[in-house]
Amino acid sequence: MLKLKSDLLSAVTFRHLANKQAAIDSLIVSKRADRAQTLWDGKKGSKSGEAAFLEIHTILCEMCVSTEICNYCEQNEASDVEHIYPKTFFPERTFLWDNYLLACKTCNTRHKLDQFAVFAPSGSSTAVEMERGKQPPSDDAAFINPRIDDPLKYIQLQLTDSTLHLAIHPALTDPRDIAKAYYTLKILQIGTRKAVVEARKAALKFFQHRLKRYQSLLGAKTYDDLEEIVEDPDLVDRTLGFEVERQRMKEATKASILNYAHPTVWREMQLQHQSLRKIKQLFEDMPEALLWS
Ligand SMILES: [Zn+2]
Repeated sequence: MLKLKSDLLSAVTFRHLANKQAAIDSLIVSKRADRAQTLWDGKKGSKSGEAAFLEIHTILCEMCVSTEICNYCEQNEASDVEHIYPKTFFPERTFLWDNYLLACKTCNTRHKLDQFAVFAPSGSSTAVEMERGKQPPSDDAAFINPRIDDPLKYIQLQLTDSTLHLAIHPALTDPRDIAKAYYTLKILQIGTRKAVVEARKAALKFFQHRLKRYQSLLGAKTYDDLEEIVEDPDLVDRTLGFEVERQRMKEATKASILNYAHPTVWREMQLQHQSLRKIKQLFEDMPEALLWS
C-alpha cells in the first residue's frame, strides 16, 4: 500500500458532489445513511451525474499507485470507487472527493465492506471497530488513509524473512500509529491473503530479473549483446544507432519495473536493500535505481 498521488476535480464536478452531499446533510442524522445509499446507487442516473462520475473515475485511475491497479492489494483491476470512510457510518462523506479511491471487487466487497475503526474519544489511543446500527463515536480514523497518510510508515513488507507478508512496522512506538496499522491489516487482510502474497513473490522475482537486465545493458557493447540480454532478437532495432538503441532498452526496462503491479514490493526493495544480500549488490552497482519511482 502506497500513498496516492493527489489531483483536483473540475469545478463543475466538485459542485455536483457538493449538491449531492448537501441533500444528505440537510436531513436529520437517522435518515442520512439511507438517503446516502439511494443517491449513491443513482449517481449516474442523470447526464450531469454520468459526466461527473466519468471524470471522477478517470482521475482516480490516474491517481492509482500503478496502472489502474487496486490501491489496497495492488494486484487486481481497480474497478470500484471505494469510500475510505464507509458511507453506512459516515453518510456525510458519501460525496466527498477526498474520501474516494479505486479498489478491486475483492478488496471492496469481500474484505472492506463497511468495516472501519476509529479512536474514541477522538484524539485518544483507544480504537474501536464500527458496529452496525450504532453511530460512530468519532471520525478520528484508526485506519490508514492512503489519500493523506504514507502507508509505508505504518506497515512494512516482510522481505528479510521471505514471507512477503505485510506487518505492523517495527519502528512504530505511538499506540495510535500501531492501532491504525493493526486495523488496516485486520480489515483488508492484505498482509497475508494467499493469492496476493504469491503475486508479491512473483513481483519480487520480476523486479530482480529486470534489475539484472538493466545491469547487463549497462555493460552491452554490441547489437548481439542487446539481443542476448533482452532474450528476443525482434526487440532490437539494428537500424538505430547502437547507443540510441541501448538507451531505449534501458528506458523500457525501467518502465517495465515502474508499470508493474505490486509497487510496494519495489519501494520496499529500495528501502530495505541494505538488509537484502542479493538486492543490495544490484542497487550498489546501479544507485540510480534507488530513485526510480
Ligand atoms: Zn484489491
